[in-house]
Amino acid sequence: MKQSNLRPQSPRSTRRISGRAQQDHILDPYQRQRKLHEGTVCPQCGAVYHEGRWRWVARAEGAAEELCAACRRINDKYPAGIVTLRGDFARQHKEEMIHLARHQEEAEKKEHPLNRIISIEEDARGVVINTTDIHLPRRIGDALKRAFHGEIEDDFEKDGYFVRVNWTREA
Ligand SMILES: [Zn+2]
Repeated sequence: MKQSNLRPQSPRSTRRISGRAQQDHILDPYQRQRKLHEGTVCPQCGAVYHEGRWRWVARAEGAAEELCAACRRINDKYPAGIVTLRGDFARQHKEEMIHLARHQEEAEKKEHPLNRIISIEEDARGVVINTTDIHLPRRIGDALKRAFHGEIEDDFEKDGYFVRVNWTREA
């Protein structure tokens, strides 16, 4: 794994920081330090640890079972990412926006089984989406911006495995 202090090439600071975090898996407290056995199955979601990562493949008979990081985060209600949708537009178009976020989750999860939505909560100021990973929030944010415009801010915690994406549109 590349441990780089090199200057990242992407011109966008948010991408750059996420890119670095992507390499430093060790920062995620939910990543196991020891190696899992080939074929380990998550008893909760059915993902299979195969060739060094979790995938959606068929489980082998007699496979070892161990909860994946995403399921542990879901059980602990401990998000690695939070997307907040704020402003009048978000309040008025909640359903469409949640639908779009769910659609992004489906697409992301196919490739990356550990990237999922933990929960979607509605409050007086709009919608809060909690995710198991630090990549899905950015993907949801980008999709929201493409579909509904608005403003995005992201905030990546340098010392922890956590990202917050705030989407806002007033009218
Ligand atoms: Zn799982």
